Amino acid sequence: MDYIFPEYYKKFKCIADRCPDTCCAGWKIMIDDKSLKKYNKYKGDFGNRLANCIDWKEGSFHQYDKRCAFLDENNLCDIYSEAGKEYLCKTCRRYPRHYEEFENIRELSLSLSCPVAANIILKEKELPELITEKREMPLEEYEYFDFLLYTKLLQLREMYFDVLSNKSYALNYKMAFLLATAHDIQTRINKNEIFEIDNLIEKYSGDDFYRKSNIVFSKYCDNYDMGMKARRDVFDNLFLLEVLNDEWTPFLRQCRDNLYSDSADTYIGEKKAFKADYLPNEQEYLNLLHYFVYVYMCGAVYDDDLYTKIRFAIVNVLNIMEIDNAVWKISNRSFDFEMQNKIVYRYSREVEHSDINLKHMEELILNGKEYSYERLLNAILMI
Ligand code: SF4
Repeated sequence: MDYIFPEYYKKFKCIADRCPDTCCAGWKIMIDDKSLKKYNKYKGDFGNRLANCIDWKEGSFHQYDKRCAFLDENNLCDIYSEAGKEYLCKTCRRYPRHYEEFENIRELSLSLSCPVAANIILKEKELPELITEKREMPLEEYEYFDFLLYTKLLQLREMYFDVLSNKSYALNYKMAFLLATAHDIQTRINKNEIFEIDNLIEKYSGDDFYRKSNIVFSKYCDNYDMGMKARRDVFDNLFLLEVLNDEWTPFLRQCRDNLYSDSADTYIGEKKAFKADYLPNEQEYLNLLHYFVYVYMCGAVYDDDLYTKIRFAIVNVLNIMEIDNAVWKISNRSFDFEMQNKIVYRYSREVEHSDINLKHMEELILNGKEYSYERLLNAILMI
């Protein structure tokens, strides 16, 4: 079995009671069957507590005031301290490590929703290399796994990472490139012309393609009215999602009021001022784009929908950019890494840590006109 992970993956260490926002509150923690059996057999006073604080029907820990029933007042886990590390359920043992499963391959990542993981991901000075480790495991055979498509997606992802690393391309060009090429390749996937992907990758890799696509993209540049409307419409859909933290919606509303109440000229002026003020942001946004592409893109092997995965990655980064800009305005034009870190892990918790929200986002992207090719190019290339 191959285990693939970004080079920063092994840097993670939980800081437990020093964590600014524990992961054991705000969402329901589901328990795997093996752990449920262990909890069921546990004897004594703590066994009674386990019996009472688990929703056995649903297979989850009870919550008090949105906090896990086993989280103590110092934000430490009572299961860990009373029963031992080996009694943690799979979710708690793994988090924030995330696994995507493919035939004989596991792709590992750190979830952005953990403040420490977000810190590691955002702080990367260069985009991380992907490491492959071989582990002795019985071979798997998935009944309907399209290995050819998966291989092409891997090639394509490698090309995307090369483009994201290219220092001579601007960030907005890189996003537009991902969007345009995913749009193009999707038509081949729909026609089952998977072999064509090789030719397309070759075409996209030449400098000539860069020159020609720049000409096409230039018609979307500096269109402030359309750009602002496109970003606002995408941002507004965040209000349609299930809310995990009660403070999230008032925070989003405050951001929206600060961003979109003035004219497009004022809006763009604020964007330029923020960009000039918060210089390191470009690498952070690239790291985020890399994260979303890495985690989600190859899932297209299961639904043949590459274009939605790439749009999801781009839209998340655009939304985070918008929130950053709003927070900078709200904070009297000041912004630092700590603020960025908090925005990113809170955003990820809301969007990525609810299966309902992931599904809803996917449907919105698939069906909403605000995610059309033209609209997204307007949103990306406006500045
Ligand atoms: S959010 Fe991350 S750092 Fe904080 S307690 Fe959870 S795993 Fe540890």
